[in-house]
Amino acid sequence: MQKDVGNIDASLATPRAVQQLISEHGFVFRRSLGQNFLVDGNVLRNIVRAAQITRKDTVIEIGAGIGTLTRALASTAERVLAIEIDARLHPILQETVERYGNVEVLAHDALKLDWQVLWDDYDLKQAKLVANLPYYITSPLLVNVLTEELPWDNLTVMMQREVAERLTAKRGTKSYGTLTVLASYYSDVEICQIVPPTVFMPQPDVDSAVVRFTMRPYTLEVHDPALLWRVIKASFAQRRKTLGNNLAAALSGILTKAELESILQALGIDSRRRAETLSLQEFVVLVNRLEDCI
Ligand code: SAM
Repeated sequence: MQKDVGNIDASLATPRAVQQLISEHGFVFRRSLGQNFLVDGNVLRNIVRAAQITRKDTVIEIGAGIGTLTRALASTAERVLAIEIDARLHPILQETVERYGNVEVLAHDALKLDWQVLWDDYDLKQAKLVANLPYYITSPLLVNVLTEELPWDNLTVMMQREVAERLTAKRGTKSYGTLTVLASYYSDVEICQIVPPTVFMPQPDVDSAVVRFTMRPYTLEVHDPALLWRVIKASFAQRRKTLGNNLAAALSGILTKAELESILQALGIDSRRRAETLSLQEFVVLVNRLEDCI
């Protein structure tokens, strides 16, 4: 972890500061939006350090809340685009980031964002994504962000511990799944810190984790990234089924079972294996081969 990124503004990351702000504005938490605000300065600083923010960085933050993390990012980055879905939070956010001239608050549903359009509109060359994510959007958001293939530098995200453990799971284990394979194609994934419920207000039911995705090209490229995700999903569709059966179901009408069998055989992949035993390299080779027939 990077040692020092200058003065990180952690002034809102205390139970008292958050309580005061929400009381002043008569704000009531909405559970359905995953509103668990950070109230711990050490964890906040660890997120900013994990993201390796410098004065040259543009940071996109998802789910800015009352601006606790936004302020910390504004105090260390060049520019922050803070996305928040809940209109009730916008006046609070405007107030909390007012002292920084480098924050733009954007009213969007992060799950519906067209990332390419956002990058074009803000003329971004490279950016970092930093978020204390609402739990309910973690998986779909990560899939959207990763598969858009924009030149992200890194993504540093607080998420539920269980998803973090799936992302970093070893091949052959129960937790190794669609997200593990997809994320490892695009990035090196590390759990930077496990975080207890007590650092949030209100407290969630489960532990969280700060996860960093350091983007990098994979040694073997897939020619069609959209097909990669389709094949990964199809392969894991029913975990108890073999790879051959899952793929045959997804490709019915396109390839016969015998054709699929011979493709897998030619690649040295036994169709009776289960998806969780396949390495990333095997998925990539398979996707590039399937691209020629579908
Ligand atoms: N960043 C703040 C913090 O660290 O204290 C708040 C984090 S809180 C876990 C998640 C935030 O995401 C909430 O403010 C919630 O309103 C917002 N949110 C929920 N769903 C969203 C969505 N689909 N798009 C954008 N923001 C969303």
